[in-house]
Amino acid sequence: MKNIIIFGAPGSGKGTYSEEIKNRYNMGHISTGDVLRAEIKNGTELGQVAKGYIDQGQLIPDELMIDILAKTYDALPAGKGVIFDGFPRTIAQAEALKKMLAERGHDMGMMIELIVDEETLMARLLRRAEIEGRADDNEETIRNRFQVYHAKTEPLSKWFESEGIRHAFTWKGSKDLMLEEIFAGIEKEN
Ligand code: AMP
Repeated sequence: MKNIIIFGAPGSGKGTYSEEIKNRYNMGHISTGDVLRAEIKNGTELGQVAKGYIDQGQLIPDELMIDILAKTYDALPAGKGVIFDGFPRTIAQAEALKKMLAERGHDMGMMIELIVDEETLMARLLRRAEIEGRADDNEETIRNRFQVYHAKTEPLSKWFESEGIRHAFTWKGSKDLMLEEIFAGIEKEN
């Protein structure tokens, strides 16, 4: 399988669809948010640094993130495609990812963008706050995360477009429909 970069705003379903794709095609999965939350839970030095940014809804600095990503990637079993979930979030991260993969004789594969209206995103994140109790799922932090997304991450959509690997899927009210379209898109590319 080709690598997959799953891209979208907070609450767009990156984690949910990554799980579905991973199970269906037996791929590796890197969620940088999950990696950071595990570091926080384990009380590591990196976790302490990351917590300050996450709680404010800000991004962890690129250099640190790129380093974490490369280490996590190299620890995965070789030969399967990998789903990148929550990375890259800036142009610098995207360029670093492309370079890191090229150095290993791999490439970015395809990018899947999840497009969801902001009202639905906010409703989902507030619901998730009640269920999972994530520290950064409160209304103020969510607003910051949207702002950061628009300022730093959204421009990447065009970057992927110019790389010729962007595939966009728009939420039309049904997860099953979304999955059907995403699976068809993946199978066309593989
Ligand atoms: P997520 O679980 O992907 O929504 O990530 C939660 C938080 O972790 C983000 O709001 C950021 O603070 C941090 N984070 C996760 N991935 C990255 C990344 N690629 N670059 C910078 N910060 C990140």
